[in-house]
Amino acid sequence: MTAHVTDLPQKPATEAVAAQHRQLLDSLPFSDVQDFEDARRGFIAALEPGVVQADGRVVWDNDAYGFLAGEAPATVNPSLWRQSALNAIQGLFEVVPGIYQVRGLDLSNVSFIEGDRGVIVLDPLLSAEPAAAALDLYRRHRGDRPVTGVIYTHSHADHFGGVRGVVSQQDVDAGLVPILAPEGFTEHAVSENVYAGTAMARRAGYMYGAALARGPRGQVGAGLGQTTSTGTFGIIPPTLDITTTGQEETVDGVRMIFQMAPGSEAPAEMHIYFPQRRALCMAENATHVLHNILTIRGAQVRDARSWAGYLSEAIDLHGNELELVFASHHWPTWGRERAVEFLALQRDLYAYLHDQTLRLLNRGLTGPEIAEVLQLPPALENAWHARGYYGSVSHNVKAIYQRYMGWYDGNPAHLWQHPPEAAARRYVDFMGGAEAVVAKARESFDAGDFRWVAEVLNHVVFAQPDHEVARELLADTFEQLGYGAENGTWRCAYLSGATELRSGSFGTPVTPVSGDVLAQLTPEQLFDALAVRVDGPRSWNEHLELEVDLTDVGTRYRLTLRNGVLSYTTAPQTSAPDVVLHLSSTALPAVATGAVDPAGLAAAGVTVDGDPAALGRLLASLERPDPDFAIVTP
Ligand SMILES: [Zn+2]
Repeated sequence: MTAHVTDLPQKPATEAVAAQHRQLLDSLPFSDVQDFEDARRGFIAALEPGVVQADGRVVWDNDAYGFLAGEAPATVNPSLWRQSALNAIQGLFEVVPGIYQVRGLDLSNVSFIEGDRGVIVLDPLLSAEPAAAALDLYRRHRGDRPVTGVIYTHSHADHFGGVRGVVSQQDVDAGLVPILAPEGFTEHAVSENVYAGTAMARRAGYMYGAALARGPRGQVGAGLGQTTSTGTFGIIPPTLDITTTGQEETVDGVRMIFQMAPGSEAPAEMHIYFPQRRALCMAENATHVLHNILTIRGAQVRDARSWAGYLSEAIDLHGNELELVFASHHWPTWGRERAVEFLALQRDLYAYLHDQTLRLLNRGLTGPEIAEVLQLPPALENAWHARGYYGSVSHNVKAIYQRYMGWYDGNPAHLWQHPPEAAARRYVDFMGGAEAVVAKARESFDAGDFRWVAEVLNHVVFAQPDHEVARELLADTFEQLGYGAENGTWRCAYLSGATELRSGSFGTPVTPVSGDVLAQLTPEQLFDALAVRVDGPRSWNEHLELEVDLTDVGTRYRLTLRNGVLSYTTAPQTSAPDVVLHLSSTALPAVATGAVDPAGLAAAGVTVDGDPAALGRLLASLERPDPDFAIVTP
């Protein structure tokens, strides 16, 4: 552990940041207030107060963003301030008669589509209590309609995690409430948070600023929405898969025509056209941000080219008929001409980033070089919904480079670099020692070159983590970069880094993995999750053969641990295993995730045949992931 600096108050913005903001105020079309009209259009009622609790714990507090009503202070990028003020507009809204939205109760929106008898819930938020509060708000103003269907537009947690707040498992099991989702939904919904889940969750803490105070010097929003709710997270698997573009379904008298969009913003995603309302739901593929080609919490790179293609296809399919476009984040766009132009600009945005990155990489430019020179055409630069509040041109361009070319930029100088600590010691030594670097860094800070200060002081902190002056100045530098950032997630990341440099690690504030999700994992996914926890070097010399007999489904898996690798097969084996575990598939998640230790196996309903010590050796080879790993220090 490193020494802590004392808790320091947040600093004011420097003149360099204030000047950058003034320039932005002059260059962007702040007098265009169409978005504010659209974000308030159809307003019916707000949740008063705008707070949701679960067992006395606040899991959503939109009122904490009341400060956004004023003018942007120098500590917040005015463009991000504007976006956050829009996202903080909360309540129940009529999109068109028969379609309603509750916005501002989570990172995402929930939409309510009225049918003959009841209401279909489209994308029930991230956790149950905000979803229930949204349904309640809807019912208070639209009548006590029963939920007659649920739709998940895609496999991201903020679009299904609150489902238990709007429907019960019994009603789904009884066939009373169908749940529609794109093919592949469950597999992607549960696997995304498993293999790299610990690291993604730790980094998500930086990206969404969960540990930051709300306020002009803290978290002001995440661009896509204000932040993530922290209520009860769950999942009920879909009962009806949508598999093909053009597929039509009718639920409670509501006609729906689907467009598949796999491998776009999410691996399983779909758009929905409601012909009776002439309304097109774009899931999360056309929102009021430049979205992420690669989210900074870490993920697999998305396909910008396919994404743009689906937007073109949506225009081709419905552009002649639709009267409005809405999505599961932000506010709708009304009128055919405006809606189609909105879709076309979003298409141009992702296509331009993709195509120009490829053009430039074929001229030999590398990711960081392309990110620096690539500029959007004026029509996109001045379209508020195309600005980088969530994704950014900078990190999306690097992601597109990464998708095609990988981590290596082709320059052998970068083929075998020292890792950060080893490089840092050498840099600081070559630059004349820590004191000399800090003195020069302070001059660059005063000149407003914060990007450079972050680079060199990061070396000092990685070479000498106890150097308090370097840590303080690096924290101040991250803070100024945060104040300057137009991107909500960049601001959160910078301010989170500053917070940890000043007062130590805040760990992982929010972990969205629940028993509900684990219960949906297949045995194969669970074994994969175990395999990535095997401590390789410690297990080089282990050789274990285990049989897992899932008594309720009648499947036997042979697990082999050798050379630090845990593999599995269902093929019949001739050799005898060291140990056989007989258990039901419902008990498997707890055993496989290490929630049950060997002493507790019998109580968990597991029968062990053979050498119980073999099981102990397998469990001993597993490592617990670290949800508190260092980021801004070595
Ligand atoms: Zn979302």
